Amino acid sequence: MNENVLDKFLRYAKIDTRSSEESETTPSTQKQFNLANLLVKELKEMGIKDAEIDEHCYIMATIPSNLPNNHPAHSKVPRIGLVAHVDTSPDVTAENVNPQIIENYQGGDIVLPADPTVVIRQAENPALQKYCIGHKLVTTDGTTLLGADDKAGVAAIMKLAEILVNNPNIPHGDIRIGFTPDEEIGQGTKYFDLKKFGCQYAYTVDGEMPGELNKETFSANSGLIKIKGRDIHPGSAKNIMVNAARVASEIVARFPKYMSPETTEGYEPYIHPHSMQGDVASATIHILFRDFKTEGLDLQKKIVENIIDEVRKLYPRASIELEVKEQYRNMSDTLEKHPIVLDTLWEAADRTGVQPYWNPIRGGTDGSRLSEMGLPTPNIYNGGQNFHSRTEWLSVNALEKTVDTLVALVQIWVEKYS
Ligand SMILES: [Zn+2]
Repeated sequence: MNENVLDKFLRYAKIDTRSSEESETTPSTQKQFNLANLLVKELKEMGIKDAEIDEHCYIMATIPSNLPNNHPAHSKVPRIGLVAHVDTSPDVTAENVNPQIIENYQGGDIVLPADPTVVIRQAENPALQKYCIGHKLVTTDGTTLLGADDKAGVAAIMKLAEILVNNPNIPHGDIRIGFTPDEEIGQGTKYFDLKKFGCQYAYTVDGEMPGELNKETFSANSGLIKIKGRDIHPGSAKNIMVNAARVASEIVARFPKYMSPETTEGYEPYIHPHSMQGDVASATIHILFRDFKTEGLDLQKKIVENIIDEVRKLYPRASIELEVKEQYRNMSDTLEKHPIVLDTLWEAADRTGVQPYWNPIRGGTDGSRLSEMGLPTPNIYNGGQNFHSRTEWLSVNALEKTVDTLVALVQIWVEKYS
């Protein structure tokens, strides 16, 4: 098989692999196996014999080193892992994804054909003007997400595998491939067997524009406020009813607006009440705490505790409890101790002719958890934008640069040890 990276991407994008936050199992949805099993089959067809999938939908495979015994880097160059996730976001439907191709983008808004109210606006997508004039773009038809997050990453790694297998003249050490389920629900590394993966360094291939490299992510906690009120017929409620829904609204109204996702960018932290359910008897508020400085999360918790204390004074008979759980940590804490994993990546991107730059991710990646678990894992762009939405789009030219970057990367590792 010799198939270009776009065609690989289009085939994978059409397979619904939406994960689910409601599920207790791993993978959270069985349909993730539909893509995962196909990937194993294709890896095996390429001649990657050890490609395997486990019961939790984790794929591991090796492209074995092709360095001859007398090569100076033989038995020295570390095993490098490449990681992408097969699931797509639960936020938007992924049924009947129908990708649209724009052959030669020349600027302007993009109206999506199946729902003309969905428009990719140039004003809201500065990357279109900045990077993508003359590019081939892929969009949705307006009714689903595209799934470039992270099928573009999956396609790039599959293309790299095909290139390495077909071109034995490209020197590389052992390359391990890891495809994970459930990244979008924060469970991508739950059953990731680091020992079995056996790599010293790894990279995720998971967004966004050409040259964008990531070594910093948020540190993240989640919070849950549980409120209990007192329900009674409204006709005889005076001085008895305690309306939990009202208490919840009082709390959310007091969240600092200057510290919300909609008012912050770059390195600014936020506290985000992202969902709220409630009636008179009980209410819940789900919160995201995000800060690049891990110690900032303690301050954020304190802010919410103070708000709860204020509201308790207004509703002394309501019960209000806050529970905070750790999610992931800024990967730069680990990565800065391993400059080689960053230097090699920078050099690889640079060698393909794009201008590399480090951009902080206002989110997390599988790499955040993997780095924390001891496997230094920065992130490489995959050419997609507007993830988790119907206006998601992908630059094919950028995705091709991702593949070039990976091809350069495996060789640079060999050079470093030669
Ligand atoms: Zn992703």
